[in-house]
Amino acid sequence: MEERPALKVERMRAEEVRKRLRALGLLDSRYRPRVEGGYVLFPIVEGRDTARICRELGCEPTRAFFERRFTKPRTLREALKDTVPRNLHQFIPSSFDLIGSVAVIEIPPGLRHYERVIGEALMEVYPRVETVLAKEGGTHGAYRIRGLRVIAGTGRTETIYREHGCIYYLDMMKTFFNPRMSGERIRVASQVKPGEYVVDMFAGVGPFAVLIARRQPSARVLAVEINPDAYRFLVRNIQENGVSGRVEAMGGDVRQVLRDVEDRFDRAIMDLPFSAINYLDLALKATKERAMIHLYHVEEGEDASEKAVEKAIRESERHGFKVEVKAVREVMEVAPKRFIIALDLVKSG
Ligand code: SAH
Repeated sequence: MEERPALKVERMRAEEVRKRLRALGLLDSRYRPRVEGGYVLFPIVEGRDTARICRELGCEPTRAFFERRFTKPRTLREALKDTVPRNLHQFIPSSFDLIGSVAVIEIPPGLRHYERVIGEALMEVYPRVETVLAKEGGTHGAYRIRGLRVIAGTGRTETIYREHGCIYYLDMMKTFFNPRMSGERIRVASQVKPGEYVVDMFAGVGPFAVLIARRQPSARVLAVEINPDAYRFLVRNIQENGVSGRVEAMGGDVRQVLRDVEDRFDRAIMDLPFSAINYLDLALKATKERAMIHLYHVEEGEDASEKAVEKAIRESERHGFKVEVKAVREVMEVAPKRFIIALDLVKSG
């Protein structure tokens, strides 16, 4: 038995109140309602409007002991089956991101009203999750920080994330991080050959740079990051993963950092999809002949890949360089018909 916020109502009105609570997303389905004398006690989710709703329902908010339901739900949908009305079940998201103790989910407009119970349900299905964040708007500004709002849990957004055997400290509210890029990171890191000198131009908290250094101990990486918070985590992650001697972190604008650099790197990673192409000249200047450039670029439409290739070639030529396109991949859809395209370009003149 656990002591939980509760609502006490006469038995006669119990069914009506249960329906209302459910419709309002206030019923806490993790616990079993309980009958006590002529009353029913409902376990409820506490929120800013709980007191007002109780008054409206003519019930008494209180605390009571409840038995936890025996079976733990395995999916979000299962966890919400009693708290979200059936006609809305179709909108319950089937995907979300789990980044250590933080979950990030997109709440469809039809379920805004239920975001609190959705958050609680996620924490129930994934006991490691201590904060649930809802996406709000896109990613903003040069630091690419995502609009996020706490909908459940402690509100702590700093966390530890593990990927490909590396460990990353990060804060979802202060730094950019996308676990869906994990496949790209291993794809790129696997191509790095012994002795390479790599520049990670938009390093974030370091998931490309650290992975490369871990997998290819004789490679060296220069990791550049402009957001002071992300830079702080980058420095820490380099230490935590034991790659201090091989990854050098530089804080600041990559244009400044590489200002006087020419023909130095064997490989460049350009993971700033909305504007990396504007830095292609810098990458071409800073790399050696035959170097590989991994350019991430956002493009729209059915022919997004073709457009990305054309733009990269045109942009290179405009600055007096030639590139060969070695690979083109659609990495993910960031909005309807809007894709992040990964281009592997070889500097060839
Ligand atoms: N590669 C990382 C981060 C990608 S997001 C990852 O996989 O997680 C892009 C990052 O580039 C952000 O952290 C942003 O702060 C940084 N950035 C943006 N403009 C920059 C610039 N001009 N110079 C250096 N870093 C920049």
